Amino acid sequence: MVSSLTTAIGTKRTLLTELPGPRSRALHERRTAAVSAGLTVGFPVYIERAEGAILVDVDGNSLLDMGSGIAVTSIGHAVPALIEGVSEQVAKFTHTCFMVTPYEAYVEVCEELARITPGTHKKTSALFNSGSEAVENAVKIARLATGRSAIVVFDHAYHGRTNLTLALTAKNMPYKDHFGPFAPEVYRVPMSYPFRDGLSGEEAAKRAISMIETQVGADNVAAVLIEPIQGEGGFIVPAKGFLPALSAWSTKNGSVFIADEIQSGFCRTGSWFACDEEGVIPDIVTTAKGLAGGMPLAGVTGRAELMNAVHEGGLGGTYGGNPVACAAALATIATLREQDLAGRAREIGHVALGTLRRLQDDVAIIGEVRGRGAMIAVEFVEPGTKNPNPTVAKAIVKYCTENGVVVISCGTYGNVIRLLPPLIISPEQLDDGLSVFSAAIRAAN
Ligand SMILES: *Cc1c(COP(=O)(O)O)cnc(C)c1O
Repeated sequence: MVSSLTTAIGTKRTLLTELPGPRSRALHERRTAAVSAGLTVGFPVYIERAEGAILVDVDGNSLLDMGSGIAVTSIGHAVPALIEGVSEQVAKFTHTCFMVTPYEAYVEVCEELARITPGTHKKTSALFNSGSEAVENAVKIARLATGRSAIVVFDHAYHGRTNLTLALTAKNMPYKDHFGPFAPEVYRVPMSYPFRDGLSGEEAAKRAISMIETQVGADNVAAVLIEPIQGEGGFIVPAKGFLPALSAWSTKNGSVFIADEIQSGFCRTGSWFACDEEGVIPDIVTTAKGLAGGMPLAGVTGRAELMNAVHEGGLGGTYGGNPVACAAALATIATLREQDLAGRAREIGHVALGTLRRLQDDVAIIGEVRGRGAMIAVEFVEPGTKNPNPTVAKAIVKYCTENGVVVISCGTYGNVIRLLPPLIISPEQLDDGLSVFSAAIRAAN
């Protein structure tokens, strides 16, 4: 083990054993005895080290990371600036609790969030540990600030796994099944899903708004909460015009427009946030995942008058905005900015969408190739129909992972595979990953 820590990791996918190898299989037996069966077993290859876009497992195999731990390690693994920032902070102090005795890094992260989130209005932020916690707090703030209780969410939405956020999340299995009862005053309306509804953005917004007005009542809506590009729900990119129309309706009717940018944020889609594409300026933005290079950190950033409407002591938590996580966030944001990783995300999107759309002409199981920047997905169908085809999606994920390319499935129907490569992936690595993914799709066709 010590020797492997001193050897360079390299940049190539290299398999020395079948996957999972013998050491991973042994670890998996221990896991089965020690870890709750309630956690998903993605692919039981146990990771020992990582660098850039390469994950090295306990058997010495080098895997290509096309998932970034669900859009988290966007700047890549083992980034020197992040290691340095985190190490320095660990040596200084690891915790004081910001509410007891504060520190600069927390303030600095909030200053950065105000700078990079959409809009130039006055903003303040609060920091938390997980995306779910950020969404919960955004809802708390919207209810307090408006004095209303209804929260409008969308089909296919994913907002987390705590009780309130499960109420906001759409998909029953595996997230919600038998975990209720769930928090009340949550209303679900149809999303814009161009591949399945064929509606323009304006038409889809009209449908959603009519449902809100007739079934909830505009005056009851505290917040309209939406992922500008849906993540777990299947990388659903709403038709152009949908988000601006909902945001305008929300403003006109005195509710808070909350963009959950937890998966789509931090340059993933080719700009700092997915809302930037259409110039949508949310009242509140929730962030997590790509914010801190793998350290647990989440943010709620919003209009100062909303965020500051909360009474002193109304927001907080023991660990929220932990100094080590804040140091990681500052290194991450600096790296995204200095290396223009938004530009890199656009290049990745150009290459990947091009390759996959050419492949679509040759195979019958691809229903749609979609995405923006480095948030890319393929939706699989039964040939000649739009019926979801989760069986081939599962086979394709298996093929990829067995060949050392880590990809993740998603979608309400389990029939979508998403690519979320680290934004620093090299052109050679991207080509390699896409060629394995393409071979997997041809094999399943
Ligand atoms: C992952 C995710 C969450 C939940 O974040 P956790 O850190 O897992 O609690 C919420 N919203 C979106 C859009 C997500 O992708």
